[in-house]
Amino acid sequence: MKLNDRARFSTICIHAGQEPDPSTGAIITPIYQTSTYVQEGLGQHKGYEYGRTHNPTRMALERNLAAIEAGVAGFAFASGMAAIDAILTRLESGDHVLVSDNTYGGTFRLFERVRRKFGLDFTYVDTSRLELIEPAITAKTKYLFIETPTNPMLQITDLAAASEIAHRHNVRVVVDNTFASPYIQQPLVLGADIVTHSTTKFLGGHGTTIGGAIVDGGNFDWTSGRFANFTTPDPSYHGLVYADLGAPAFILKARVQILRDFGGCQAPFNSWQTIQGIETLSLRMDRHVANAQRAAEFLAAHPKVAWVSHPGLASHPDHARAAKYLPKGAGAIFGFGIQGGIEAGRRFIEGLELFSHLANVGDAKSLAIHPATTTHSQLSEDEMVGAGVSPDFIRLSIGIEDIEDILWDLGQALEKA
Ligand SMILES: *Cc1c(COP(=O)(O)O)cnc(C)c1O
Repeated sequence: MKLNDRARFSTICIHAGQEPDPSTGAIITPIYQTSTYVQEGLGQHKGYEYGRTHNPTRMALERNLAAIEAGVAGFAFASGMAAIDAILTRLESGDHVLVSDNTYGGTFRLFERVRRKFGLDFTYVDTSRLELIEPAITAKTKYLFIETPTNPMLQITDLAAASEIAHRHNVRVVVDNTFASPYIQQPLVLGADIVTHSTTKFLGGHGTTIGGAIVDGGNFDWTSGRFANFTTPDPSYHGLVYADLGAPAFILKARVQILRDFGGCQAPFNSWQTIQGIETLSLRMDRHVANAQRAAEFLAAHPKVAWVSHPGLASHPDHARAAKYLPKGAGAIFGFGIQGGIEAGRRFIEGLELFSHLANVGDAKSLAIHPATTTHSQLSEDEMVGAGVSPDFIRLSIGIEDIEDILWDLGQALEKA
């Protein structure tokens, strides 16, 4: 399949990076479950030397990731956390990273409990308030690390404006695009330099694999850690330049630096499953977003609900910004507060029949969690509020089931709460 410049997002999801297997014509890229490759002669190989750096299944996924994020190269990692940590390996001790506050808890732990010990410095600001970004940039700042929309309150950062501010100070912009997915926003097109994902969530989409990714917009010299130029990738570029072994030198170097040397590469079976997931990304996201909007409206009108935080509702502080920057919808994850606080929250969760109770997001199945009785139960109520989690807070990741069944389940569990 040859994609031309007119190909649109869903077509790219399904076709980019996936050539029929050269040895058999298999339409689906096979799972190349091999650690290494036989050499025909001394130093003579087909471009694949060792599985950590090169694996055909993983590279098919990587080309696809580059294309769906409108970047020039993708790198697939064993987890979202491994991808984020690989980006940090380009820094030197003393460097500073400016981070969206309310960032994913695992990212916060990596930064504060692991990488701070190695001399990296991190500051957290609400990047949805653009006026807070510039004063927090120092001479040592190398990355502006943005999550938008944030979890759990779904604050929305204007990525184009934030990138413009960062670039004025020679700071590179990294966006964790896990929550929105490229269906909703493509940060590289808006001016960001690097995108990171937990493919565990919407890209894989079915709760089957842990995985992560980096997509490079082409502005970053991965060897020196400096930045090459500021050109915004052409959105019609589809990542096809990394049609592979003939990729430009800087991408081959990046592959060596962040996969060979750092080593957190994704397994071929996981890559294969993620490729299958991305084929249906558009269809799933359409349904996720529509279901989430209906569920938010239903909850907002329910007498046992204290508040709902969903940017698709006029009551959300970033409602206007969501309409402008996320025209396809603000995603499928949102929070609400239940009347009656902690105990009502517990009864609500125990009363759910369709929703699964667990700490994940982005599956085809609807998911719910009450942090106050689970992930944050060791904290006092004051500490919970400090961590951005009020005792009445329930987080939902709305799945792609029939909306009538989703609303029925929410309604009957609220009755029991
Ligand atoms: C889940 C998640 C991660 C971490 O990804 P893993 O695949 O679980 O390692 C990072 N960022 C965000 C926004 C996430 O939701």
